[in-house]
Amino acid sequence: MRLSRYFLPVLKETPAEAQIASHRLMLRAGMIKQQSAGIYSWLPLGYKVLKRVEQIVHEEQIRAGHIPLLMPTLQSADLWRESGRYDDYGQEMLRLKDRHDRDMLYGPTNEEMITDIFRANVSSYKQLPLTLYHIQWKFRDEMRPRFGVMRGREFLMKDGYTFDLTREDALHAYNRHLVSYLRTYERMGLQAIPMRADGGPIGGDYTHEFLVLAETGESEVFYDSEVTDLTFGDRQIDYDNREQCQSILEEFTSRYARTDETHDPALFEQIPEARRRVARGIEVGQIFYFGTKYSEAMGASVVTPDGSRVPVEMGSHGIGVSRLLGALIEANHDDKGIIWPEGVTPFHCGIVNLKQGDSATDAACEGLYAALVAKGLEPLYDDRDERAGAKFATMDLIGLPWRITVGPRGLAANVVELTSRRTGESEELSAEAAVERIAQIYAGR
Ligand code: ATP
Ligand code: MG
Repeated sequence: MRLSRYFLPVLKETPAEAQIASHRLMLRAGMIKQQSAGIYSWLPLGYKVLKRVEQIVHEEQIRAGHIPLLMPTLQSADLWRESGRYDDYGQEMLRLKDRHDRDMLYGPTNEEMITDIFRANVSSYKQLPLTLYHIQWKFRDEMRPRFGVMRGREFLMKDGYTFDLTREDALHAYNRHLVSYLRTYERMGLQAIPMRADGGPIGGDYTHEFLVLAETGESEVFYDSEVTDLTFGDRQIDYDNREQCQSILEEFTSRYARTDETHDPALFEQIPEARRRVARGIEVGQIFYFGTKYSEAMGASVVTPDGSRVPVEMGSHGIGVSRLLGALIEANHDDKGIIWPEGVTPFHCGIVNLKQGDSATDAACEGLYAALVAKGLEPLYDDRDERAGAKFATMDLIGLPWRITVGPRGLAANVVELTSRRTGESEELSAEAAVERIAQIYAGR
């Protein structure tokens, strides 16, 4: 993409309404525009990162054997009357009427609808196990929408639903989700710590939240510092292997890590004092096993091997896709702007032309651009007629992990400059070597 032809409405001023870094930077970098409280347009740069995050979530869900589908945003109130949640949900639910005076709602979640799909189509244990998920916009009329996409009213969520014959099978589905989530967040360059959580309005007796540590997080968290040493790495996972999934769950959840809702001071005190941490975190996902709560209320049952009928065992598992952009920026920025991890960056690298209009420099930039594209990479070429300082400031603000700077002086010595956004370190090398290096960094992503 050439910046002169792109739509990147960066702001010079720091928007007064934004209280935290990620919100400020998303507005300044031209990623989002607020349309009303907690409702945003995703401008091209923001949309690109959102799609990257979504793609990683899809890939990891599919790797775990989960099946994508798409349910609508608008739902009939009647389904929610069956589960009893139409009255329970309260003011967070956006309720509306269609022209025939039928009660509708904008879905805050989809347990009822997926249970309806299940009961209409599945009747035998032979069709189990089954995990269906979608990535769809949700609406919750939050009392205090704030911090940009972090607590929106309209937000993008991945929500997956598991259907199993037995509690044991359902707990394997739970473990599978925990493992796939660990992989998902780590691929994005984020550490999200599974913490024991509270069932809340969805209800459940087995649940973990995934938290990204950040001073601006809305949850207070208590943990053993050893949990932050755990990494998933590139382990080979067989998602059908129950022992393997169970042992990973134990590895990542055996140490104390809880949100304030489930915090137990007496247990916390048992951790050696030097390892006790009280901090704040951003909830980027949650997994629930809730058994037959919805299947019993809504008549979703299956025939068992012995011919009897039992309500299906269920769980629901969410990832805050749009909130993740905020969490990613909270965890990856400095005073100049965003620092995207390679896994989610909107462009693989930037090209800065120090002397636009100089035919040799322009040609070198064009050559570099074509060579990167030929490697399957997507560069953002700043070809505007601007001062070098302004070009650097824009690149630093939007946070591309790598920048290649091209100017007449370097070209005379046959070199360009490759700069890491994260470390600020630069290196001079030939244009060909720079392309090779970038290609290598992204190989396999
Ligand atoms: P919270 O406690 O933050 O209100 P929740 O527990 O009600 O969230 P879930 O029902 O668990 O939310 O939804 C799954 C995920 O969706 C959450 O882990 C979170 O990452 C994301 N999410 C929930 N509410 C919002 C919101 N208002 N804006 C953006 N993302 C949200
Ligand atoms: Mg939650």
